Amino acid sequence: MSIIDKDNKEKRLRIAIQKSGRLTDYTEKLFKNCGIKFNENRDHLLAHAENLPIDILRVRDDDIPGLVMDHVVDLGIVGENVLEETTMQRQSDNLPTAYKRLMQLNYGDCRLSIAVPNEMEYEGLHSLQGFKIATTYPHLLRRKLKEHNVNFKSVLLTGSVEVAPRAGLADAICDLVCTGATLHANGLKEVETIYTSKAVLICRDEELYPEKQAIADLIIPRIKGVMAAKESKYIMMNAPKDKLSEIKAILPGAENPSIIELEGSQDRVALHVVSREKLFWETMEKLKSLGATSILVVPIEKMLD
Ligand code: ATP
Ligand code: ZN
Repeated sequence: MSIIDKDNKEKRLRIAIQKSGRLTDYTEKLFKNCGIKFNENRDHLLAHAENLPIDILRVRDDDIPGLVMDHVVDLGIVGENVLEETTMQRQSDNLPTAYKRLMQLNYGDCRLSIAVPNEMEYEGLHSLQGFKIATTYPHLLRRKLKEHNVNFKSVLLTGSVEVAPRAGLADAICDLVCTGATLHANGLKEVETIYTSKAVLICRDEELYPEKQAIADLIIPRIKGVMAAKESKYIMMNAPKDKLSEIKAILPGAENPSIIELEGSQDRVALHVVSREKLFWETMEKLKSLGATSILVVPIEKMLD
């Protein structure tokens, strides 16, 4: 019998996530913060949430777009780089490519860049004319170089792309970069960013069974709430009444503050506000120079608008 029986298919929301890799810890933490409890043993391909009708399917990230597009799972979390590349590959294979993009998530940041050997003189994309370029992302690379009429040959590698030039397999590479340390260690320099990516939540492009839709309607606002909370801070301070408008003007992305009387004080009040953006030291110092005291910045765990 298939691991996913018919009843589950209709009633339990199925979400594909990366089994083990750079997105996994963040995704598991996101689910935990959303109140989804599930077995954390990564050897289990399928984890049933204990407290909600949700099944989590652990797979390689490359398989996630196809599982959503083939309607094997309802939702998936994957890097935009893999999503775009797989979509183009499936188009050329005449496979279904429809999906709904529900939201971009606040992790999995990386960029797909072209890197060449340090000693090469690089003067722009035309310098790559006729090159052999090693990459895991031939479609994204081709799309970019076609825009600039650069002809090249791609060498498909699914790992250790950065050693290809030294090994004589290619003249340049096109690979994911975060800090650039790997490139540096391999005598390469980053010369062009062709795509920037984050993780995204996608959904199959088909109406869900009502039971599943109800679960999706419950967890999607929770995911948004966890992300909004992460960016936001609760800020409290005591402030002079006559400086309130100046203080409000410098609080980043803040909503209307609550102003609370301070017992025994005529000219000072307490001000509480949720700020939707990061609060920098410089802003705190400006607040202080406007006469604010006891400035507290507190993280927010959950938020529901
Ligand atoms: P799998 O075994 O699932 O196929 P993988 O080796 O293809 O894993 P990872 O290296 O775990 O993939 O990266 C997964 C995704 O994480 C990438 O496709 C990208 O969207 C994102 N990512 C974020 N930061 C980085 C980074 N510094 N380097 C590479 N990928 C990153
Ligand atoms: Zn992968």
